[in-house]
Amino acid sequence: MSGYDPNNVFARILRQEIPARLVHEDERCVAFRDIAPQAPTHLLVIPRKALARLGDAGPQDEGLLGHLLLVAAGLARREGLADDGYRVVINHGRRGGQAVSHLHLHVLGGRDMAWPPG
Ligand code: 5GP
Repeated sequence: MSGYDPNNVFARILRQEIPARLVHEDERCVAFRDIAPQAPTHLLVIPRKALARLGDAGPQDEGLLGHLLLVAAGLARREGLADDGYRVVINHGRRGGQAVSHLHLHVLGGRDMAWPPG
C-alpha cells in the first residue's frame, strides 16, 4: 500500500474534525455532499478504512468495494437519479485527477454526462 496521510481532508471528516453534509453512514463507509458539486447532485462515498487509492485495495477489500458500490447505487436511487441515470467515478492518482488521497466514489447526477470524460 502507498503511504496514507492520516490528515487528508476525508480522514478529518471521518474523525468529525471538519463538518460535512452527511447523507449516509454505516460501519464501513460514510457518504456526504461534495463541497464543490460538479452536477446538481454530487455525492462522495468513502470507506472508513484508511485506503489512499483504489489500487491500494487488495483481495481482503473485495466485500468493502462491493459495499461502496451498492451504497452509491442506493443513494442514487434515494436521490431520484436512477431513472434518468447517473455516473459513478473513481479517480486514481495524479493522471486520474485524484486530489484527495483517501479512496472515494463520486456519484454524479441531475444533468447529462459527456463521454469521453475530460
Ligand atoms: P478527487 O479529485 O480527489 O477525485 O475528488 C475530490 C473531491 O473532494 C472533489 O470533488 C472536491 O470538491 C471534494 N472535496 C475536497 N475537499 C472537500 C471537503 O472539505 N468537503 C467536501 N464535502 N468535499 C470536499
